[in-house]
Amino acid sequence: MTGIFYDLNSYGHEQVSFFHDRETGLRAIIGIHSTVLGPSLGGCRMWRYNDEQEALRDVLRLSRGMTYKAALAGLNLGGGKAVIIGDSRQDKTDDLLKVFGRAVDSLGGRYITAEDVGMTVKDIDTIRTVTSHAVGGSNEGGSGDPSVMTAFGVFQGMKAALKSSGMAESLEGLKVAIQGVGNVGYHLASYLSAAGAELIITDIYPDQVEKVVQEFGADVVSPDQIYATNCDIFAPCAMGAILNQRTIPQLKCKIIAGSANNQLETEKDGFDLFNRGIVYAPDYAINSGGLINVAAELEGYNYKKVMDKVSKIHDTIGEVLDRSRREDIPPHEAADCLAEQRLDEARKEARRVGKSELRSEYLTKLNCATAVN
Ligand code: NAD
Repeated sequence: MTGIFYDLNSYGHEQVSFFHDRETGLRAIIGIHSTVLGPSLGGCRMWRYNDEQEALRDVLRLSRGMTYKAALAGLNLGGGKAVIIGDSRQDKTDDLLKVFGRAVDSLGGRYITAEDVGMTVKDIDTIRTVTSHAVGGSNEGGSGDPSVMTAFGVFQGMKAALKSSGMAESLEGLKVAIQGVGNVGYHLASYLSAAGAELIITDIYPDQVEKVVQEFGADVVSPDQIYATNCDIFAPCAMGAILNQRTIPQLKCKIIAGSANNQLETEKDGFDLFNRGIVYAPDYAINSGGLINVAAELEGYNYKKVMDKVSKIHDTIGEVLDRSRREDIPPHEAADCLAEQRLDEARKEARRVGKSELRSEYLTKLNCATAVN
């Protein structure tokens, strides 16, 4: 069987909405996977998808990942995500962003948007002129660019994976290969360089590569060479589905720890890494720093509290890898088990009090905390 409802059923989505605007050329899809823990929150990605099917698949996978990410990070938020089909360097205009913002607004707070690939703090500011359901802007109380916290969380998780694998006491002198030195990859390079790691980097945009080489020093390889690069740790910080049957046999790393969402193309790839003895820090468990950062806006942003919470990614990755070892299951399964446990408790509670009551309580809070000035 195929079709949209078949996909929604297999991923377990509540809602998927398509938005189109003839004048600006907007083609956007918003996926709300779950609002069991609260309103769905997740970034908006603008990308040159090859076709609509690819964009739909991306939004379904990304929004489901956000449900698990929020659950594991202990946040009272659900999972949602948006994609805009287009080239962010060529097709993005203020008018297009405003039409997208109105689309977000029409969902009445069931979905809150933020930055993802191809979107900036300035874009969020533009979106916020038409909806309050956007976080990560530069407005008063806004948390700004989430990628610094995402990188800090990945850095913490990487250290936990290192400790758990017994490979080394610190990152000093270790070779770390970063795929994609955009927002997160750049900040991760900065943390790693300060910790004494040797960097090997790649990106499809030469200007991004040059910036990291100039500021931190790094060896550069082409996008195709990154998988077979000799390194201790591989940090995927670009797009998803890059761990697959074509790339895994090339890997020479012992640990995979990076920010990209949906790194495994299929579940089978997670088993393959496990059987090869490569320690994989599950994407949504290690990259929740940005979500924690933007979510803090909903309660009144406090930098110290955010840093404390993001630092705990170290313990979360430790717990996931411990469970993986104890139960002899791949880390991605161990993370799913932990996230599902929390969701299960929330589902039971929602049934007990009546789901709509639970949801409206979150929405009431959200509406006062994010009202547009
Ligand atoms: P970004 O667009 O700023 O950076 C991505 C970089 O990857 C770009 O420089 C791009 O040119 C490069 N790239 C794309 N395809 C590539 C390829 N095949 N080979 C090499 N480089 C390639 O995005 P970002 O905000 O840094 O996010 C990176 C990843 O982390 C994404 O998967 C995103 O979903 C995820 N993530 C980001 C955040 C955040 O706070 N920004 C939070 C959680 C997860």
